[in-house]
Amino acid sequence: MLEIVKAEGIKMFDKNGKAYIDLISGIGVSNVGHRHPKVIQAVKDQLDKYLHLMVYGEFIQSPQVKLAEALAKTLPSGLDNVYLVNSGSEAVEGAIKLAKRVTGRYEIISFKNAYHGSTTGSLALNGNEYFKQAFRPLMPGIRHLNFNEEEDLEFVTSNTAAVIVESIQGEAGVRVPENNFLKKLRERCLETGALFIADEIQAGFGRTGTFWGFENFGIVPDIVVCAKGMGGGMPIGAFIAPKELMKKLSSNPVLGHITTFGGHPVSCAAALATIDVIQGEKLAEQVPSKEKLFLKLLKHPLIRSVRHKGLMMAVELESFEILKKTIDKAIMKGVLTDWFLFCDKAMRIAPPLVITEEEIKISCDLIVETLDEIQKNC
Ligand code: PMP
Repeated sequence: MLEIVKAEGIKMFDKNGKAYIDLISGIGVSNVGHRHPKVIQAVKDQLDKYLHLMVYGEFIQSPQVKLAEALAKTLPSGLDNVYLVNSGSEAVEGAIKLAKRVTGRYEIISFKNAYHGSTTGSLALNGNEYFKQAFRPLMPGIRHLNFNEEEDLEFVTSNTAAVIVESIQGEAGVRVPENNFLKKLRERCLETGALFIADEIQAGFGRTGTFWGFENFGIVPDIVVCAKGMGGGMPIGAFIAPKELMKKLSSNPVLGHITTFGGHPVSCAAALATIDVIQGEKLAEQVPSKEKLFLKLLKHPLIRSVRHKGLMMAVELESFEILKKTIDKAIMKGVLTDWFLFCDKAMRIAPPLVITEEEIKISCDLIVETLDEIQKNC
């Protein structure tokens, strides 16, 4: 086990000072790189003001208000009410509760191989049976459809409260919507009155070349859930919806969702700085050329294909054994990659968006060198 004692930009350092290039960024947490100076400064400034205030609407806390305004500006008009929480799983729980409140229905549609979280409700939405079996009985009323399967959309009906979908499936091993699948799903939701929840927890905050993943597919969701990259390394999440939907959450009975630490001021300050960095440094705009460079360099006989949307990439290898060897050997060479929860042959590449072309070249050379060595010993 490696002990990491410091991280900076795209690099992590162990206690002997050895550097590791971080090609996974906590699965899209450190989009702006580790310890971005602006994020660190914002956190320090907030630490000098206050940490936590438990308020029930009596006081305005400016880090939360400013963050909500900044988030709303990144979204299509109408998606203007932001409920701040602690994590992605909590954001998903909040969105599901909101959808049930708004529609008065209980059925939720999710997709096979989807990942939406680890709390009991969000776990039940996950589309992989193996990881759920120990926790049955799960939240009822959920149906899992095949991703990218247009015929399955008939199961979205006027009994459906919401459809929750990752704009690009992450843990399934980067499955990108095809043939206007999300557009058709969006239309089906409008026809049936089911709410469309976009899970942007992996795909959001610049990762796919646009600020939000759904922007790639020409749709506007009813509810957006986000977390991970949002806080630049600090814990925070949100579910976002139009005001007329969100106000239902606080109508009778008033307790729609309660969270003690949700929207913690220090995390909000970090998130505000993170949005500023993504926009100010034009990180999303640089994604397509970096993606192209990865695709050009990730060529090897042991690589079957690369599924990708921006800097969300799955390198499909020949077998699980080769995947395991590659990840283990690459880390020895100083490159951190990863596997996916629901895909047993693909290597995850999701670096901080600040990675430079030079660093991409160094990383890919080391990965190819690793694959060469594995191929020789096969
Ligand atoms: N949805 C997606 C798409 C995710 O990738 C994750 C985290 N891997 C979650 C939800 C849950 O987020 P968290 O771990 O912050 O609860």
